[in-house]
Amino acid sequence: MAEVDLHLHTNQSDGRLTPAELIALVAARGLKVVAVTDHDITDGLEPALAAAVAHPQLTIIPGVELSTDIPGNEVHILGYYIRYEDLSFQATLARFRDDRVGRAQEMVRRLAEMGMPLEWEQVREIAGEGAIGRPHIAQALIEKGYVTGRQEAFDKYLGRNGPAYAEREKITPEEAVRLIASVGGVPVMAHPSYTDDLENVLEGLVAAGLKGMEVHYAQYDEKVRAGLAEVAERHGLIPCGGTDYHATDVEGEHLPGEIGPPMETVERLKALAEG
Ligand code: AMP
Ligand code: ZN
Ligand code: FE
Ligand code: FE
Repeated sequence: MAEVDLHLHTNQSDGRLTPAELIALVAARGLKVVAVTDHDITDGLEPALAAAVAHPQLTIIPGVELSTDIPGNEVHILGYYIRYEDLSFQATLARFRDDRVGRAQEMVRRLAEMGMPLEWEQVREIAGEGAIGRPHIAQALIEKGYVTGRQEAFDKYLGRNGPAYAEREKITPEEAVRLIASVGGVPVMAHPSYTDDLENVLEGLVAAGLKGMEVHYAQYDEKVRAGLAEVAERHGLIPCGGTDYHATDVEGEHLPGEIGPPMETVERLKALAEG
């Protein structure tokens, strides 16, 4: 068990637990520092911070995860210690979420064309009030009985090269790095091994202000982590990580704190945010 988990989702994006439920879980699991990192939304932060008041041993880092694109790959950029109250930042996130709605409707349209009609109302209800995403459409496909599980939904239809996949206008990872820096946050590349040509991508991102990358990521085995630790070191990046917990009930999902970076990582991130 780790004391630190810097990658967690709530039902404000595609996680299933409310912020308060997530905080109760991480406190019960003995975690000391966690970051709440929902996709394109920070509305889970204040309820999470409020819930954490009951657990003085637990510190919450305000975070976010931004979806960006480079040719051929999707790149996610995490931001830590962001001044999330910033109005212009919130307006930008709201625009990203609007784009998510249009793109989800397009995916629903394509699924209907393929003989799998979904009610938009149902998808909307699964997503709740926050950021809508493909996991919500996957859930609707399961509820309709078109697929038996989430992975099947992604493998057959919703994956990046799947027939129902729709793209939205995405910012570049460099833009995301600058956006996070503009609100005092520390930008970190999420799950880097999903990116081809990582070395080149990193060079551009470090030049734009990237400060860390995930190394201690739940879905990576020890060999991958060791390789990423070396890459991070070489590029002067703080090794970060966490479980990317969504509470999806998928068998084998890693629970918060099953893996995470050392406390030293938190100290380094904090020093940068304060510096
Ligand atoms: P979205 O934000 O709508 O692009 O959805 C991204 C989320 O979908 C990720 O955070 C993952 O949780 C999930 N996801 C993306 N690709 C896959 C995949 N191939 N298999 C399973 N889940 C996936
Ligand atoms: Zn997610
Ligand atoms: Fe991600
Ligand atoms: Fe994530």
